[in-house]
Amino acid sequence: MDCVFCRIVNKEIPAAVVYEDEEVMAFKDINPQAPVHILIIPKQHLTSIMDLDDSNSDVVKKIIKVAQNLARENNIDKKGFRVVVNTGNDGGQTVHHLHFHLLGGRFMTWPPG
Ligand code: AMP
Ligand code: ZN
Repeated sequence: MDCVFCRIVNKEIPAAVVYEDEEVMAFKDINPQAPVHILIIPKQHLTSIMDLDDSNSDVVKKIIKVAQNLARENNIDKKGFRVVVNTGNDGGQTVHHLHFHLLGGRFMTWPPG
């Protein structure tokens, strides 16, 4: 399967990795939309949140913990930040490997575009 995030997990292409364990990886977005823009992914290939079920969703809890820790490390925990999971075509998903955007370091407007 030709998946850019699986290739990052397998170290076939480089990324600015900021966290890694057996199940989760976090790396800087190549096209940052905010001063802090990190992608947090399960190492297992899941296409979107629609692939999550009781057999594989424990990883989401870990991802939220990683997001908390990265928010603290990047000093955006108190000021605030946004966690975004674009899903499917209307959601603006372009990479079809589940990923959580951690965005911060500037004020985020609402509604999103
Ligand atoms: P989405 O539009 O929610 O699917 O987000 C995909 C994100 O992946 C975009 O913000 C891209 O900038 C980012 N991205 C794509 N390729 C890479 C890569 N090789 N390394 C880091 N980030 C990437
Ligand atoms: Zn993948």
